[in-house]
Amino acid sequence: MSRSYVIKPELGKTYPFISHGKGIYLYDKEGNRYIDGCSGAVTASIGHGVEEVAEAMYQQAKQVSFAYRSHFSSDAVEELGAKLAEWAPGSLNWTFFVSSGSEATETAQKIAIQYWQEKGRPTKNRIISRWMSYHGITMGALSMSGHVLRRKRFVPLLEDYPTITGPYPYRRPAGMSLEAYALECANELERAILRIGAEQVAAFIAEPVIGASGGAVVPPDGYFQRIREICDKYEVLFIADEVMTGVGRTGKAFGVDHWGVVPDLMTLGKGMSAGYTPMAATMVTDEIIETITKGSGLIMAGHTYSANPQSAAVSLAVLQYVEKHGLIEKAAEQGAYLLSRLQELAEELPLVGEARGLGMLCGLEFVKNKETKEPFALSEGVAAKIIAKAFEKGLLIYPAIGGIDGVAGDSVIVAPPLTITKEQIDELIALLKEAIVSVQQELK
Ligand code: PLP
Repeated sequence: MSRSYVIKPELGKTYPFISHGKGIYLYDKEGNRYIDGCSGAVTASIGHGVEEVAEAMYQQAKQVSFAYRSHFSSDAVEELGAKLAEWAPGSLNWTFFVSSGSEATETAQKIAIQYWQEKGRPTKNRIISRWMSYHGITMGALSMSGHVLRRKRFVPLLEDYPTITGPYPYRRPAGMSLEAYALECANELERAILRIGAEQVAAFIAEPVIGASGGAVVPPDGYFQRIREICDKYEVLFIADEVMTGVGRTGKAFGVDHWGVVPDLMTLGKGMSAGYTPMAATMVTDEIIETITKGSGLIMAGHTYSANPQSAAVSLAVLQYVEKHGLIEKAAEQGAYLLSRLQELAEELPLVGEARGLGMLCGLEFVKNKETKEPFALSEGVAAKIIAKAFEKGLLIYPAIGGIDGVAGDSVIVAPPLTITKEQIDELIALLKEAIVSVQQELK
């Protein structure tokens, strides 16, 4: 039998087949309903089945779906670029379109390296990243990612970019204030730059809120401000990987906006098209574009589907929907409510060590011992069991497993569409609680 690869080995069965989706709900072909409690892979941020987006898709397809970016630009692409520039902080006015988050971060890596070449400083070609991070699955993006479980098989082929630890407030040294911890973590970047030599370092890349490798780990205030200072001091570009956090997910347009920090490059994906089409982007500043324009005049990156009018029209319709329905503000408001409900679970349930998050990007970390914060061994598969139990009950949540150096760390991401209502959050929490309690009982 030939079929696409949809076997779910840990459950020993195939996935259900999707039928349709509406709002925060997905329905399989057997008629079961699921709350999309993680927007798929933190992607479907405006919810499912939005008519306006389908209409924009149809209108563009009737007109022209594909025109190669070296031959034509299009209204859709130019309008989308203008809208993103309007939303983005500082002079991040230029967008290079790609089709996935991995392509976006890898393109950012390449543009950063090219920028220093164009400046006549070709030795600045190394990227510094953090051990608790995920920047994508392709080799360049994986080289920058600390996600040990995803790197493991390919280590001989990867650059050893992850160098420093990221801030992980829940597990900070006992007695250390958040302020001191923020500086301590950021200063690690300075030490790394000095060790490697600033003349070797092109850029530092970080997720504003750590997603897939940590489970919505929010840095303490002051961290990114200090990171920006260090990058400026040593002429290291700062790449904000906003693939998960961008386009309203955290209750601001972009994650870095929470700290008033302007990166030199910013990557987007996921919520940028809310899953209605594969679409992602790398945004760069005027200064980067001017340098390349004065130099070779050509950004050495690109993919067949870069800037295709079809995806651009869909993404533009998504951004317009976000604006029209005030979804960034909703993410902040309802996200605060979601976090408060998750914090109740953390108080009530012995298994939940911490509830954390920013806007509609929240997470839970499960621990063996709440007092000591002792994690479960990965072999116990606690987060995976809770995810499977929630699935059975009709709730989708997203894994963030192995965040503690790839040897432990059981977290999940709870990040429903930004359109979710208070009542629907209550419904989500009730199912999540049932799933956790049920696994808790099995563990006894
Ligand atoms: N960067 C971040 C922060 C992500 O969370 C992800 C995916 O989870 C990626 C990059 C890679 O994106 P994609 O899976 O679209 O290639």
